[in-house]
Amino acid sequence: MAPHLHPATPQPNHHRRRPAPRLQRSPSPRIRRPRHLGAGTPTYIGRPLLNALDLAHWAQSPLELNAVTALLLSPYLTAPTELDTAAHFDANILRQANLLRPEIDLRSLLSMAANSITPISWIKSLIQYITKSGNLETPRTYADWAEFLRNLLAAANWPGQRPLSPHEFQATQAWDSLLDQLATLDFRGLRIPYSAFLRTLTHQTATTPFTPPSTNAPIQIMPPAAAVGQTFDGLILLRATDANFPPQEHPNPLLSYALQSSLDMPGASQTRAAARAHQTLTTLLAAAPNILFTYAAETPDGPQRLAPILDALTWPQLDVPPTPSPTLIEIDLIPDDAPLPPLPSTHIRGGARVLQLQAACGFRAFAEVRLNAHELDTISLGFDAAQNGQRLHNALQRFWKRVQTQDTLRSMTPEERRQFLRQCVEEALSHHLDLSNAWDEAYVSLQQQRMTSLLQQWLEIELLRSPFSVGESEKDLQVEVGPLTLDVRFDRIDKLEGKSQAFVLVDYKTGASGHPRQWESERPDDPQLPLYSLLFTEDELKGLAFAKVFAGGMKWLGYQSRPGILPSSRININEVVELPELVAQWRATLTQLAEDFADGNAAVTPKRYPQTCNHCPQRTVCRLDPSSLRIPEEDQEELDV
Ligand code: SF4
Repeated sequence: MAPHLHPATPQPNHHRRRPAPRLQRSPSPRIRRPRHLGAGTPTYIGRPLLNALDLAHWAQSPLELNAVTALLLSPYLTAPTELDTAAHFDANILRQANLLRPEIDLRSLLSMAANSITPISWIKSLIQYITKSGNLETPRTYADWAEFLRNLLAAANWPGQRPLSPHEFQATQAWDSLLDQLATLDFRGLRIPYSAFLRTLTHQTATTPFTPPSTNAPIQIMPPAAAVGQTFDGLILLRATDANFPPQEHPNPLLSYALQSSLDMPGASQTRAAARAHQTLTTLLAAAPNILFTYAAETPDGPQRLAPILDALTWPQLDVPPTPSPTLIEIDLIPDDAPLPPLPSTHIRGGARVLQLQAACGFRAFAEVRLNAHELDTISLGFDAAQNGQRLHNALQRFWKRVQTQDTLRSMTPEERRQFLRQCVEEALSHHLDLSNAWDEAYVSLQQQRMTSLLQQWLEIELLRSPFSVGESEKDLQVEVGPLTLDVRFDRIDKLEGKSQAFVLVDYKTGASGHPRQWESERPDDPQLPLYSLLFTEDELKGLAFAKVFAGGMKWLGYQSRPGILPSSRININEVVELPELVAQWRATLTQLAEDFADGNAAVTPKRYPQTCNHCPQRTVCRLDPSSLRIPEEDQEELDV
């Protein structure tokens, strides 16, 4: 049975001394809202209590990353002077970390923060307090844990230094009252570990009703029971169907029916429930001179009926007037022709990405590269696709650094290859990774097996090519294109055997996407290899290809200047083309894109709507009007289907 809580007498405690809002000078004029939501639970009333609850859980176990972000950016914890630093830490350090699970414990976060320039003061004092408090699994009384939690929150600076609004103040009072009520459970003489105390606290927080302070708003929204005893100018009862009014009463499944019936408990008797419903209705009818009951005639569940108790009143039914059609407003057109300030620097990091974005949509390139507007990175369970790709690149780089040539690869026995590959994969996977528990170790071990087996198969595909040696792998260079200087990183540059200056550019692809047709058109989808090709003279470049290291789809896809440089078969499609001509075309296309970016051409022009926009994080800021776009017929048919 759930513990029964007694109303408690508040205990004196210095951590409860918070100035009431009426005693403070308000930092800004209060806004009177037109409506007021009149009931809920403490968690419903918002962030102060959610922050307190999350901190209580974080003291014991890792916390989910989004909740950590909410704490770092919370005005109830982080001082206003530290908020920018906390946001920087969250976006650029925490979310870039090599984490195998989307959660982090307090100590790991502190050591991460200690290695950065970021002093988030409350985290340090929180850990100091937890360390000082001893083992959280040692049983203590409810009152002890309540006191521990109060001190813990005080160590974290909760609820902050700034003046509290009436709502926030009421929330902190509700929290204190909850802890007081939990302390009354000590009458049972039990000592419990912190985890058990947390479970009870979480349950009570979710179920304790809470009435926020009235703001004297003209519209009050509340459940019927909360309206009893009050008076209004008008009253509207929504969803007045037989399913909702009167609210259903449920008997307690753990108490005997006889006991519940003798105590007249809710749900024990239909007759008494009906009497209570009539009594509530009578009180509501007296609460206002104007009363309206409404309900939807039909919902996804089917046709709806007016509650019989209301139907019995035989009040007249009102016809719902038709919804007025919206008034068209006249639109002022303001020409957007103000020139942008010049590009602060023509040296751009991120390689071909700027050209890829400019080709996809000018506005997206402007927002992401020039304004640096990015969505926050998310961390999923295990390695995500990008991390998998990076680690696979790393393993292959380690492999080719030692093996160097296709001849050496051919001379190795399958067992030698497997052993060496395994070692490279192991090093690549454990690079910058802190394996903190058995789950992490088991996961990484599984990934090692998977990647080793995948790359073993890939090495067979490497043997299909004409002889080569790996010249450069994961090499950083700069490419000049139009007015821009781009920092790029090559996956691999292979030298063809027998010729001193004959190269093949290789780009690893670890997913299904990636096809040479993405290099074509004036708005190429993947301009990376075309961009790299600009670094070679006309005679040097003999081929460029996607190396598709992808389970179930391993192959070479690319262009070559003569047959035999790259494998050709039904699967490995490597067209023979006039590479110098193609490179000249690419140079013109990429130069135009670079100039467009440098000139600030930030037009909202997605290459293919809606595909280009589907995963674009700038969708909320670009104000794209899809009706202004002409969707190609074949795309429209696809969409219709
Ligand atoms: S949502 Fe579409 S139109 Fe808007 S910025 Fe992104 S790609 Fe461009």
